[in-house]
Amino acid sequence: MKEDSLVIHEIYASIQGESTFAGLPCTFVRTTGCNLRCSWCDTTQAFYGGTRMTRAEVLERALATGTELVELTGGEPLLQPGVLPLMTELCNAGRTVLIETSGEADVSRVDRRVHKIMDLKAPGSGESARNRWSNLDHIGAGDELKFVLANRGDYEWMRDVIRSRDLPRRTPHLLASTVFGKLATKQLVEWVLADKLPVRVQLQMHKYVWAPEAQGV
Ligand code: SF4
Repeated sequence: MKEDSLVIHEIYASIQGESTFAGLPCTFVRTTGCNLRCSWCDTTQAFYGGTRMTRAEVLERALATGTELVELTGGEPLLQPGVLPLMTELCNAGRTVLIETSGEADVSRVDRRVHKIMDLKAPGSGESARNRWSNLDHIGAGDELKFVLANRGDYEWMRDVIRSRDLPRRTPHLLASTVFGKLATKQLVEWVLADKLPVRVQLQMHKYVWAPEAQGV
């Protein structure tokens, strides 16, 4: 069955870098393939290649590192049907499970125990038209909505989306970060304070711990 195997780019332990779980030890299961092409994507290495593994093998390797947190990331994990049962199996094994997803893929069938960290793509990504707005109906207080901003226009887009779609009513976890090297975090902080916007400004932690272009960390 197509759920029985997955194409995996890498499985490794590191620290979670971009959510309210940031800084905690976490095992990353990075799947291969993405159907978007964000202008600032920093995981283009995961678009192609990878290794086909049985789901049982992926589960075993994800559990073997022993971290309490396990995150599915990519690429876009939800392109592979095996990711849904894998996440349920990880939850059943007692892990706290996160999934980073683009906001284009349908999240309605994700196990409710999983914390969804879902992007809303701003215009600077070049993929804003792909936001699947119906996904917001499946975002709850345990989930997180993430904006990656390249310029002032992206910031104003985020501000409008937060207000017009009343996002704080769905989740208190609204995350805002900047495209590394394009928009200064200090500038974002000033805008957020000026507008009293209820977002959590965050850094892409791994880019400060390791070299910005480092992979597998
Ligand atoms: S959705 Fe994520 S993996 Fe896909 S192109 Fe955009 S940033 Fe890269």
